[in-house]
Amino acid sequence: MSLSEFQLARPRTLPDALAYMGEHRGNIRVLAGGTDLLPSMRQKLFEPEHVLDLRRIQELKGIRETEQGIEIGALTTLREIEQSPILTKNYPVLTEAAKTVASPLIRHMGTIGGNICLDTRCLWYNQSLTWRKSCGFCIKKDGDLCHVAPGGTKCWAAFSADTPPALLCLNAEIEIANAANSRRIPLRDFYTGEGENYRRLQSNELITKIILPHSSYSYRGTYRKLRVRGSIDYPLAGVAVAAKRSNGHIEDIQIALTAVNPAPVLVKGVAALINAGQIDDNAAEYAGELAARSAKPLTTSALTPEYRREMIKVFTKRAVLAAIES
Ligand SMILES: Cc1cc2nc3c(=O)[nH]c(=O)nc-3n(C[C@H](O)[C@H](O)[C@H](O)COP(=O)(O)OP(=O)(O)OC[C@H]3O[C@@H](n4cnc5c(N)ncnc54)[C@H](O)[C@@H]3O)c2cc1C
Ligand code: SF4
Repeated sequence: MSLSEFQLARPRTLPDALAYMGEHRGNIRVLAGGTDLLPSMRQKLFEPEHVLDLRRIQELKGIRETEQGIEIGALTTLREIEQSPILTKNYPVLTEAAKTVASPLIRHMGTIGGNICLDTRCLWYNQSLTWRKSCGFCIKKDGDLCHVAPGGTKCWAAFSADTPPALLCLNAEIEIANAANSRRIPLRDFYTGEGENYRRLQSNELITKIILPHSSYSYRGTYRKLRVRGSIDYPLAGVAVAAKRSNGHIEDIQIALTAVNPAPVLVKGVAALINAGQIDDNAAEYAGELAARSAKPLTTSALTPEYRREMIKVFTKRAVLAAIES
């Protein structure tokens, strides 16, 4: 599968990059590590006239401690994140999730910004042009029906990146910039829940950094992932859990899911399971049920929806028990 022709821009500064995006708004794609963008362009899922390669922009790279917490440049690779001592010590749920993405080679190239912006996935969508054409296309690209939920008008493609549920548990924020200004929003407000237009980002905007607040410093947690091949695969169901303990008491617990909805989701009502500063086996089991209720797996992915939902339940219970012990 060949790439279509495009103009490649490789700016060295953020203002130059943002100005270029403004000039070519609507007909441009951003390339960070390229591990998802380039395969998608080969499949003709995106055919931009302009591609903006961010990789020369130093200010988008690196992990820094600030007064508010930790800032991670959007272009920081997943490998740097998984190997960062400060993140491993203070935000272990994030480093654990990063370690499960694809393979070491892909994590050397793939970035955290690209992971947050990963396009939603579906067995009917992540295919070659010829394959999609033979099925009459679908709502997400070039068509008007959904093969997964026929009769509906919505796309249910699954958001399938590993680090966003961990970032949601840590109450992360992102900075979004265009040529005129920048704004900071909670990551939980970034996703729309629609498989087709899955993120709130204009075509002249970039994510520049991710901010982990100091208030999430003492959260300990873990990430569990279901996939077909342990060595290299997207999640088919993923659960991140982070709990805050103080003097042996659990003060808060957060659970977030990936790969079972068109957006990563925080499970509601979990903190209410803490009883006298503890979570027992029954409460952990109930947390699994709450998580399974938040999951809406469909036939967008390999393995059946029923199995994926059941695994959300099992993984959540295990992850809760592991998180409160860590
Ligand atoms: C074989 C294989 C297995 C994989 N397995 C996994 C897996 O297990 N888990 C997983 O999470 N992912 C997986 N991936 C997907 C991908 O490798 C990762 O999600 C990676 O983090 C994407 O980052 P990137 O920098 O390469 O993104 P790119 O491919 O460069 O970009 C991805 C998308 O994000 C946009 N983008 C990138 N950076 C920014 C920014 N700063 N601001 C705005 N938009 C931006 C791009 O325009 C594009 O739309 C896999 C990919 C492959 C090829
Ligand atoms: S969920 Fe439906 S519309 Fe969305 S990509 Fe899959 S088949 Fe297409």
